[in-house]
Amino acid sequence: MIVGQEEMVRSLREIVGEDHVNTDVFERINYADTSLPYDVEEEDLPDVVVHPGNAHEVAEVVKYANREKIPVTTYGSGTSLIFGTKPKHRGITLSTKRLNFFQIEEDFQWFECGAGVTIAHITGELEKRGYCLPINVGSRLQATIGGAVSVNTCGHLMDYIYGKPVSNVLSVEIVLPTGEIIQTGSKSIRRATGWDLMRLFVGAEGILGVITRIRMAFYPKPETVDAVAFFKTAEEIGYAFALMFKKKLPPILDGEFVSEKCCKVGYEAYGLNFPEGAMAITQSMGRAKEDALNNAKQMADFLRSAGAIESFVLEDAKIRGQVWGVRENAMRWGKEKGLKGYLAIEVNPPLPFLPQAIRELNHITEGRNDLIGETEAYLYGHIGASSLHCLFAFPYAWSREKMKQVVRDIWNLEKDLNIKYDGVGGDWGQLPYRVPFYREKYGETSYGIIKKVKQLLDPNNILNRGNLEGEE
Ligand SMILES: Cc1cc2nc3c(=O)[nH]c(=O)nc-3n(C[C@H](O)[C@H](O)[C@H](O)COP(=O)(O)OP(=O)(O)OC[C@H]3O[C@@H](n4cnc5c(N)ncnc54)[C@H](O)[C@@H]3O)c2cc1C
Repeated sequence: MIVGQEEMVRSLREIVGEDHVNTDVFERINYADTSLPYDVEEEDLPDVVVHPGNAHEVAEVVKYANREKIPVTTYGSGTSLIFGTKPKHRGITLSTKRLNFFQIEEDFQWFECGAGVTIAHITGELEKRGYCLPINVGSRLQATIGGAVSVNTCGHLMDYIYGKPVSNVLSVEIVLPTGEIIQTGSKSIRRATGWDLMRLFVGAEGILGVITRIRMAFYPKPETVDAVAFFKTAEEIGYAFALMFKKKLPPILDGEFVSEKCCKVGYEAYGLNFPEGAMAITQSMGRAKEDALNNAKQMADFLRSAGAIESFVLEDAKIRGQVWGVRENAMRWGKEKGLKGYLAIEVNPPLPFLPQAIRELNHITEGRNDLIGETEAYLYGHIGASSLHCLFAFPYAWSREKMKQVVRDIWNLEKDLNIKYDGVGGDWGQLPYRVPFYREKYGETSYGIIKKVKQLLDPNNILNRGNLEGEE
């Protein structure tokens, strides 16, 4: 039987000190809450939230939990859009926010930091020295490096520029579910070939260990210049981007798109007089500003030749801000319209299927008799990385049960679309909501391998219990 809350608090205080163990109900709600559209309930709350200050304290917390078989959910900033931080079995929520050590080693060309440091902080510090972080998530202000590395996301960036974190992380320090601490990887910019345990933990979504420290390579910050192009339909943007690769244009860092419906609300909100239809934004790179500008001009020309009504380089800072505002706030437009929103999905078709997938997603709610047919859908995403996000918004007035049902229906739809178009979850991770997709796409033998690795490292299933099982 699991020990009670009082006993947990007493033991945890001995490890991390009184100030860093919290049972306050609001704090527990904060750490259980996610962007799921319905409120958390009592049964969703962790018994206690703990904030260890270093790897040794994390190890002692995990050792204690393992001994007492108490579930531990690791929490970076809780922005996971597949709800990995929602406790499925109460227990302890382990926050990484005090793992905030940060150091740049310019001679070595890497930085090292605690898992709780935010993406925005690292980006800011690197940029001051003329470098860039090869991760750029929309949630950069809150999201932690530990969270991004645990789901192995590079965010908006095209995968083929710097790669995913697994290509750039040189080392992680891990607290195993048994409380042992291991170091992995290299201090050299040359990574190990063959077995490198670092790769087991990057992208493991917290089920195999708690990442406490990360060493990661950085790159010279390129100069960038953006271009914007307006198309009659989002589907045409799909054709243009599929073609862009074959034209062997200078690679872009980021390529984004916003569909017709999103643009309409966004333009209204900013008072913009852009051509009706859908919008694409590209971020061209260069070692010098002039190179980036030339590349951006080439991109604007190409997009026009590929069907854009109008395209231009975004040299005016104000217009640039507004254009990015339309894109960055695409998730909010449903809410602005008084809808409860949001639940977003991601479909990543191979390039030749981009236009067809965009067409289907752009009309996804039409002619349906189910709950999805009653939602408002907004389409946008990182089209350069073949990543299509569709946000479904629904009214505040819907009951909790109805919202739960639509959430299930929407995830099921995401699964079916990614199976149909041969996609994957390229952002956010796979656990817990994509487990049915993973099993269908890769089969029971593949899923069984992950379960065996989990069983080997975490025999009492304490870390992020329920996520690999696909529990809500
Ligand atoms: C507005 C918004 C925009 C977003 N934009 C993007 C985007 O562009 N691209 C993208 O991929 N995602 C995006 N996301 C999703 C999410 O923000 C990212 O996946 C982010 O990297 C998660 O970081 P986090 O610190 O919030 O992690 P959390 O949500 O706290 O955790 C994510 C998962 O990792 C585990 N975890 C966290 N830290 C550790 C650790 N130290 N050790 C072991 N396991 C750990 C957690 O248990 C959980 O399973 C967005 C979310 C929002 C709300």
